[in-house]
Amino acid sequence: MKFPEAETRLFKNVFVCRKCKTKRRAPMMKVMAGKISCRRCGSKALKPVRKK
Ligand SMILES: [Zn+2]
Repeated sequence: MKFPEAETRLFKNVFVCRKCKTKRRAPMMKVMAGKISCRRCGSKALKPVRKK
């Protein structure tokens, strides 16, 4: 059994670029405010990493 809370904590602040799939760790607040962009392609289209 895994702990949902632990997984949430692990993946909550990790986002993946929709264009180049680069992972980026950032506070969710900043991502939602559009202040975080992809380091590689500069895109602001980031989505949270989710496990299946
Ligand atoms: Zn990118």
